[in-house]
Amino acid sequence: MPVQLAAAENPLASESHQTSAGTIYLDNLATSAVDPRVLEAMLPFFSERFGNAASKTHSYGLVAAEALETARAQVARLVGAPSPQEVVFTSGATEANNLAIKGVIEFQGTRPCHVVTCVTEHRAVLDCCRSLEKKGVRFTYLPVDAYGRIDPDQLRDAIGEQTILISIMAANNEIGTVQPLATIGQIAKEKEVLWHCDAAQAAGKIPLDVDDLGIDLLSISAHKMYGPKGQGALFARRKHPRVRMAPQLEGGGQERGLRSGTVNVPGAVGLGKACEICATEMAAGEAERVRAMRDRLYHGLLAGMVTEVTLNGHVEHRLPGCLNVSLHDLDGAALIIALRDIALSSGAACTSGASEPSHVLRAIGRDDTLAFGSLRFGVGRFNTECEMDLAARRVVAEANRL
Ligand SMILES: *Cc1c(COP(=O)(O)O)cnc(C)c1O
Repeated sequence: MPVQLAAAENPLASESHQTSAGTIYLDNLATSAVDPRVLEAMLPFFSERFGNAASKTHSYGLVAAEALETARAQVARLVGAPSPQEVVFTSGATEANNLAIKGVIEFQGTRPCHVVTCVTEHRAVLDCCRSLEKKGVRFTYLPVDAYGRIDPDQLRDAIGEQTILISIMAANNEIGTVQPLATIGQIAKEKEVLWHCDAAQAAGKIPLDVDDLGIDLLSISAHKMYGPKGQGALFARRKHPRVRMAPQLEGGGQERGLRSGTVNVPGAVGLGKACEICATEMAAGEAERVRAMRDRLYHGLLAGMVTEVTLNGHVEHRLPGCLNVSLHDLDGAALIIALRDIALSSGAACTSGASEPSHVLRAIGRDDTLAFGSLRFGVGRFNTECEMDLAARRVVAEANRL
């Protein structure tokens, strides 16, 4: 790695870091480590290639601008976007979701609008919906089945005269369930309604092609796919149909006026590289390898656990790295505290620490005790089989003891 410092001058080599170094990281759905190849691609853009991509009157700016366009093409390629010009860099999937949903609706002006979304969406979508609801926009929140999937017939029935937009995620961040994407796309096309898809968890993990699936707007996040935090992108279709949005950040007019502010060049370069690597690794069987590790972990849990284990999410239509289980009559939070040497989460990371049971587990019909007894494991690129066996043994031992 190009940035290794001697231990004496490395501020990370402190005692607290030593502790985390011995911890097995199984929280890849909350965030993932930056791939060393991504870091290496980013580094020159902090130092010698520091130019502002909008300053095209000199070589510094031109070098940055060129790197940005390479990154845009890498993002476009991963999701099958017809043109790199359809990719807008943002600070993450939260901002991409805000731009997509608020941008599309605000562009409609005073016209009465209706949006169809789903009860298990990420907070970044649901909170946008709540704020637009206060401004008079009507929403339908589709329920999900016991595995977390919407019913396409209910989606079709929910669409009316005033429906402008569908916002349904690709894969859920808590239980990993993948929605019936191709069917949603067909319905959106048939009804001539735009479809925004939050793909923060799915991008780079399962094949996603915006043309094949009929997606008009797609949000992604770099830090869920081995890129840097604080970086994301929104794909917004420019033809058939052309998506029009009101910008949510105004200023210098960067990103074709859709997202003002000097673009984070190292971040965008990192996202681009992360997309390229995910595409390559996916073709090389990464998903199968990750899925096999996840299933090994699951079978390890089932084999030793005294209490009953319930799988949350779909058996088949699920992210390869996601394992969410409810342990009967156990407090997930207490178990996680006991399992200090394993980094995992109970429910969503953004709500962990809060005492509210997860809205996703509730939506799939888990009662409060099962929701509180849930553990979410996120297996990723840098995990090993050996870690699965060790983690399963540790979880079983602590759960059986509690
Ligand atoms: C993580 C996540 C987000 C938020 O992404 P940020 O880049 O952290 O803003 C949105 N939606 C889903 C499904 C996520 O998993």
